[in-house]
Amino acid sequence: MTDRIKEFLARTKDDGPRLVVDLDVVRENYFAFAKALPDTRVFYAVKANPAPEILDLLAGLGSCFDTASVTEIEQALAAGASPERISYGNTIKKESDVARAYALGVRLYAVDCEAEVDKIARVAPGSKVFCRILCSGEGAEWPLSRKFGCAPDMAARVLEHAHAKGLVAHGLSFHVGSQQPNPRVWDAALKASAAIFKDLAERGIQLGMINLGGGFPTRYLKPVPGVRAYGQTIFRALRKHFGNRIPETIIEPGRGMVGNAGIIEAEVVLISRKSAEDPQRWVYLDIGKFNGLAETMDEMIRYPIRTDYDEDVMSPCVIAGPTCDSVDVLYEKEPYLLPVSLEIGAKVLIEGTGAYTTTYSAVGFNGFPPLKSYVI
Ligand SMILES: *Cc1c(COP(=O)(O)O)cnc(C)c1O
Repeated sequence: MTDRIKEFLARTKDDGPRLVVDLDVVRENYFAFAKALPDTRVFYAVKANPAPEILDLLAGLGSCFDTASVTEIEQALAAGASPERISYGNTIKKESDVARAYALGVRLYAVDCEAEVDKIARVAPGSKVFCRILCSGEGAEWPLSRKFGCAPDMAARVLEHAHAKGLVAHGLSFHVGSQQPNPRVWDAALKASAAIFKDLAERGIQLGMINLGGGFPTRYLKPVPGVRAYGQTIFRALRKHFGNRIPETIIEPGRGMVGNAGIIEAEVVLISRKSAEDPQRWVYLDIGKFNGLAETMDEMIRYPIRTDYDEDVMSPCVIAGPTCDSVDVLYEKEPYLLPVSLEIGAKVLIEGTGAYTTTYSAVGFNGFPPLKSYVI
């Protein structure tokens, strides 16, 4: 928790839950990426947190933006990014949306099959395309595995098709899975990429770019390597597979850019037990899966939860959200340690919540409002 967030929470009282994001941390993260991967352009993955203050800051620092919809493109433009600094990185786009993106000036598109290439060739002629290759997402806490990308040999055909259709076969992309604690997994994807570069070069098509995706972690309960370690390991893999002909590279950090910049202040609504003998407490918060903590799905992301009583004796609890839906349980399979002295009405702080919280919040399920957000 930063002093600025601490001071903000103390100065303003709120009948939460509320997310507070410290822009100083986002700025530090941006510079850390720029320093760790000095020859790589940063495309912030807007979906992680599209708050205008964050986009304004990053646009001002020179960041580019990875977007997934026309609305996200408009948000990046509104922040001051010119269209050359925006990629339409979703492999699943309506043709009408591609046409709108083209009209807004966007010329860089992701694809993973020929049908998507055809849409772009029809309504965004002459644009650059990069083909996403499948990546297992192994080891990632929030894998993005099968839904996006195609097999590497198919990627070569997709890009040949793009070339034949008058598009610029610009390069490749992959995503090693979000919250990827192991920087060495980029190696296999870069090996496959180098083989595709070679295959296409033999057919007279020179690719120029590799999009290294996101996956850079934020610290939750377990320690993770720093961004410097990612930079070094990825650079070594690039050297290994491309020698001294390393192509242009870009990264698309989302979680790693904003995750640790945000804290949610929430409140304990109820503490109860399921029977008189049951030792396990159920702790119900005013935040759950439907108003910000969707990434607790399958207990994948385990957030640090701080209370004012953390020096006291701890005991394992089930933690649940406030709605009348039984899937709105955050941690049960692996119970969570909370202090025995925790009381109804106490505030708790949920750390590492700057990414993938506000926009995952329902518009009003059960009458609970969407997660409030303050960017300071
Ligand atoms: C979501 C997404 C990202 C961001 O991933 P993080 O793991 O949050 O860094 C990057 N690229 C694409 C294409 C995405 O869909």
